[in-house]
Amino acid sequence: MNRRTLLSVAGGGIALTVAGSTNSFVTNTPRYSDYVDIPERNISNPYGKQKLTVQLSQQSESQYDAFVLTRQALDYWEEYSEKFAGYPIIYNLSHNHDTPDVLIRFVDSIEECGSDSTDNKNITGCADLVKDVDLIITPVTAHVITGRGRDETLRTLIHEIGHTLGLTHHDEPANFMSNDASSV
Ligand SMILES: [Zn+2]
Repeated sequence: MNRRTLLSVAGGGIALTVAGSTNSFVTNTPRYSDYVDIPERNISNPYGKQKLTVQLSQQSESQYDAFVLTRQALDYWEEYSEKFAGYPIIYNLSHNHDTPDVLIRFVDSIEECGSDSTDNKNITGCADLVKDVDLIITPVTAHVITGRGRDETLRTLIHEIGHTLGLTHHDEPANFMSNDASSV
């Protein structure tokens, strides 16, 4: 598929994450060399700046350190955003930003994701899909449910942050961005 065609027709939206991947995070961390065939992307940064502030909001207690896990996911995208999203990004994570660009909320459950009701109990996350500067309403928000294992939560974080970079379920890295159980 031609990426530029895909991007030109894809608008903003909401994207779900559903649990159920049979692959674990640890064994499937992509390596740069796995993706040498991906064509060069020349995508302008929809945020209009390379350095984004990220606020972590913990509405729900987790058994792991949510801050450390979130930072790990952001580190992943600092390394791979230019390759996969088409533009480099740097994240400044804090619990307290006045006007964050991105808000990551850990919650008990997700009842609704955009206009889609979420009867599916396997949903682990929901995020704004950022495609166009005109469609950005800050803070761009990603929800991640607590109560899952550490690796699955990290995978969900990487997936949802990928959506905030404009990546869909059809984009690489497929081991993080694909979604077998939902195409929303
Ligand atoms: Zn998704």
